[in-house]
Amino acid sequence: MTEWHKSDWRAKPRVQMPDYPDATALRGVETRLMQYPPLVFAGEARRLKSQLGAASRGEAFLLQGGDCAEAFDQFSADAIRDTFKVMLQMAMVLTYGAKVPVVKVGRMAGQFAKPRSAPTEVVEGVELPSYRGDIINDLAFTPAARIPNPEKMLQAYTQAAATLNLLRAFSTGGYADVHQVHAWTLGFTESEKAAKYRDMANHISDALDFMKAAGIDSDNSHTLRTVDFYTSHEGLLLEYEEALCRLDSTSGKWLAGSGHMLWIGDRTRQPDGAHVEFLRGVLNPIGLKCGPTMTGDDLKRLLATLNPKNEAGRLTLIARFGAGKVADNLPRLIRTVQAEGANVLWVCDPMHGNTIKSASGYKTRPFDLVLREVREFFAIHKAEGTIPGGVHFEMTGQDVTECIGGMRSLSEENLSDRYHTACDPRLNASQSLELAFLVAEELSA
Ligand code: PEP
Ligand code: MN
Repeated sequence: MTEWHKSDWRAKPRVQMPDYPDATALRGVETRLMQYPPLVFAGEARRLKSQLGAASRGEAFLLQGGDCAEAFDQFSADAIRDTFKVMLQMAMVLTYGAKVPVVKVGRMAGQFAKPRSAPTEVVEGVELPSYRGDIINDLAFTPAARIPNPEKMLQAYTQAAATLNLLRAFSTGGYADVHQVHAWTLGFTESEKAAKYRDMANHISDALDFMKAAGIDSDNSHTLRTVDFYTSHEGLLLEYEEALCRLDSTSGKWLAGSGHMLWIGDRTRQPDGAHVEFLRGVLNPIGLKCGPTMTGDDLKRLLATLNPKNEAGRLTLIARFGAGKVADNLPRLIRTVQAEGANVLWVCDPMHGNTIKSASGYKTRPFDLVLREVREFFAIHKAEGTIPGGVHFEMTGQDVTECIGGMRSLSEENLSDRYHTACDPRLNASQSLELAFLVAEELSA
């Protein structure tokens, strides 16, 4: 593959990126970001890559989750803590049920830029440019709010840095200690799954007590006291990504310093496009969303471009076909991967192929379809003899009403109660936990 420079993407066709009206202001922001410290470090990205490599061999399992879009006005320590807490609970369910280490990656601390299905939206006869995430423009439906403003990149950087700081503190400062497995349940609304979780937590506490009695010092075990928690986002706004690119002195390679793992969206994966050009050159582990329109030929080219050395853990293929469409699409792409002899990690995103518009106008996702796509993903990997290595969810620890169905049977009428997402509908804490139990069952089946 040819040499790479961090600004080469500028010469390639770009889609889903804003045209900033003021080039001088944009340049000013880029210059400032270039002076700022990176948010993540190359050693961390390499460590995640090796853990994802283990997941691709079935020796670990990836749990990736968080907001569709982080929002400036929903930024709070409680929201970060709650999503982190549900992810720990889900990871505990998966570790306990499936007996594999779980690699935890948040769609957090940088998930701000959004691709949109249409460049404009019309409300009551008024047409305005689409909202593209808080790093680009504002959600308010006014002409001024929708003008892309480069200054917003600085606020996104600040929020990402503060979020990551808190996540690092939670991960190593005692909150994620496995001895706290009971405390993570507190504050959750009662459900059958919460009871099931408590049951599992009792078993874990018993096991820890047993270890202590037997003289195994779990109290001072770094592994039990802390977790590795990584961050990820779609690598969409390339001016921001380029400005945070840093040269790693250890390897001489370039790191995308904005997050541990970056993925390429289903709308920006053109093999000759700007996004593929940028992401092929960074050392981070990267994801590639694969929807129904992904052809075998495209995938073949993308495998060669994005992972020319066929490194394990470098490339995660995130399948997002929609319930009922997995059988038509996943086997053909699995076979392409096999024909190429490519090392990839297969992950299921059961969210993006199952979005519908409810009668009341809210975008929602029926929980049943989410469950069904997960089951189909596992069944097909079983039939093909390949490894289902992880899941990718849009979820939050908040008690929102955005996806219909689940244990507490949210209906379309409930959607307006607590519908807070700035973009796509997320699973709430109880739905997330329910899904974790299902995945654990599938994994141990
Ligand atoms: C997303 O993950 O929020 C997203 C836009 O996904 P996709 O590119 O798969 O549609
Ligand atoms: Mn989304």
